[in-house]
Amino acid sequence: MQKLVIEARVNEYAGRDNTPHVPFLPDEIARDAAECREAGAAILHFHGRQPDGAPDHRFECYRDTILATRARCDALIHPTLGYVTLDATAEQRIANILRLADDPATKPEFAPMDMGSTNVDWYDPVARAYTTKGLIYRNGTDTLEHFAHAIHARAMAPYLVAWNIGFTRQIGAFLDMGLLQGPAYVCFCLTDGVMLAGHPGTADGLDAHTRFLPAGHRIEWTVCNFNGDLLKLTEKIITEGGHVSIGLGDYPYAEYGRPSNAELIRRVADQARSLGREVATPAEARAILGVPS
Ligand code: ZN
Repeated sequence: MQKLVIEARVNEYAGRDNTPHVPFLPDEIARDAAECREAGAAILHFHGRQPDGAPDHRFECYRDTILATRARCDALIHPTLGYVTLDATAEQRIANILRLADDPATKPEFAPMDMGSTNVDWYDPVARAYTTKGLIYRNGTDTLEHFAHAIHARAMAPYLVAWNIGFTRQIGAFLDMGLLQGPAYVCFCLTDGVMLAGHPGTADGLDAHTRFLPAGHRIEWTVCNFNGDLLKLTEKIITEGGHVSIGLGDYPYAEYGRPSNAELIRRVADQARSLGREVATPAEARAILGVPS
């Protein structure tokens, strides 16, 4: 079995109501990334945020975060395209990443491609009502083709996100067409709580994903749980050969004593070692996931 690649999903668009440890600004993210790296993370995933936590889509924010992170540690970098907070054209959505890729000092190792579209409204099961309506995470096939060409041309690795089996089938089609090259790195985005868009964060929800992995291609898969507790699944993921993408961006883990991102990562790394699986360094993760050098 490959060594375990742990990705720190440090902030997404999470607030600080349930945990004080979510980093917003470039230096906060970089400090957090270095601690996560020390604890066993090989990859940093981050979203640009303003001082009040609002999304920051400026190039400078991404540039400064990557430079500050690389001054402190060697974690592989996986920025966002802005999720539904940047519902723009394909060119506009990927513009920051391509500009970052022009300079080796800021070039990210990964560029994300969510391989389909889905409703991502928030549902309150207690009130039995949606608290948002009309939030569509839009990733048209034409947009994804544009991303695939642009990411390949800059020698970055696509980070392929599957919210349900339909996304995974589109990954298979892109691999068959040669628009994506193996090994493919696929993140199963499970969702819990207010978010119904993904498979639930349960063994059945994960099994449904892994049973439909495209045949005939080398796939490395990881799992996150947006709005849910991924620690309930990490033993299963580790023993079945998957990788782990976890952090306070997805879930506050308040019931575990409000851990920091690094404490969460250390918990997963310790669990992996106790189950007989070693944890990958960034250099090892690069080789496992086929990141171009
Ligand atoms: Zn994200």
